[in-house]
Amino acid sequence: MSDPAPNTHLSTDCAHAGEEQPESVSTPSVMPIYQTSVFNFPDLDAVDDASSGRRPGFIYGRYGLPNHLALETITAKLEKAEGAIAVASGMGAIVAALWTLLASGDELVVANDSYGGTMNLAARDFSRLGIATRFAPVSNLSAIDAALSPATKVLLVETISNPLWNVIDVAQMAELCHRKDVKLLVDNTVATPYLICPLTLGADVVVHSATKYLGGHHDVTAGILLGDMEFVSRAREVAIRTGAYLAPFDAWMTVRGIKTFALRMERICSNAIQVARFLEGHPKIRRVYYPGLESHAQNAIVRRTMKGLGGGMMSFEVHGEGNAAQAVDEFVRRLNMIRLAPSFGGVTTTLSHPAKTSHRGLTPEQRKDAGISDTLLRMSVGIEEPGDILEELRKALTF
Ligand SMILES: *Cc1c(COP(=O)(O)O)cnc(C)c1O
Repeated sequence: MSDPAPNTHLSTDCAHAGEEQPESVSTPSVMPIYQTSVFNFPDLDAVDDASSGRRPGFIYGRYGLPNHLALETITAKLEKAEGAIAVASGMGAIVAALWTLLASGDELVVANDSYGGTMNLAARDFSRLGIATRFAPVSNLSAIDAALSPATKVLLVETISNPLWNVIDVAQMAELCHRKDVKLLVDNTVATPYLICPLTLGADVVVHSATKYLGGHHDVTAGILLGDMEFVSRAREVAIRTGAYLAPFDAWMTVRGIKTFALRMERICSNAIQVARFLEGHPKIRRVYYPGLESHAQNAIVRRTMKGLGGGMMSFEVHGEGNAAQAVDEFVRRLNMIRLAPSFGGVTTTLSHPAKTSHRGLTPEQRKDAGISDTLLRMSVGIEEPGDILEELRKALTF
């Protein structure tokens, strides 16, 4: 007896079986993760229609998937934007925005207290592409005014900057920019749309590191850029050509995180003001920087434009008897629940040391000029029971 005939369809079955969309009278409650890099079409007319935009149709992963559209729709709603583009990181969003707005020969002005990655990008990469970059202190309007030359096309600022939390008056900044035909690009990562929607105050484009408060759980890296339809359609072409989209799973994770964004921010803001007041009154603390405190230099802007809410980020300097650096070390070692983690915006309270992390690349002189001492600590307040955060700090401040 010979062996039974081999299954001649095996390779075809392996490649095709089980791919049909299941029949169902119901639809998924939550958008599934579209883990596909390409879509099938019934005929060539459909390919034509989708490619020309005559009829809606997804085509290819790099052109955007339903999970990207979901993230774009939810963030556009939050920021009161006409449209949004979801990309792989906050830096990706900044690159895509600048790439859309600038050409060789244009000039870019960047707030000198911007996120380190932004400063490096402007100084190293855009200048290399023939886009001269200047840095200016945003808290000084006449310095900004002086930095905007006739060739300047974009001013890039942060609503609340890191780690001293300087706050800008968006409307005033937009007015200054538009008088000089400059686009105002605002990084709203720290303030978030819970505090302020810069587009409603005259900003032209908003960018986010959704890695922080929007994602909100320290488990995804993502970025968003937002603006009017004219900007978004140009930026989308740039995003597609440069391959900027994030993975569908990460888009799905970010949408998942945003579902609790308002609740998280409500708790974070309420916890943060209690923590800031506690630290401000503590004898071991030399100084607290928190936009929600009356002692903050721009608290009036916070009251006028951010409903008086200071957000979840603060910094403070500890007093050291003699050796201040040792006092910082002692404080950090005594913490148990609050972990050292050089990011922010998650549900847990975390701490970082700007001199050793975000501002490590600066020389000691540059750090001194920026007001960042070696005893400055940065805290991202989480959603824990406020009493537990205070107790943890009280115990750690016994050095
Ligand atoms: C983290 C951050 C970025 C960069 O975002 P990534 O998601 O890390 O690329 C940009 N701007 C600000 C204000 C940030 O905090």
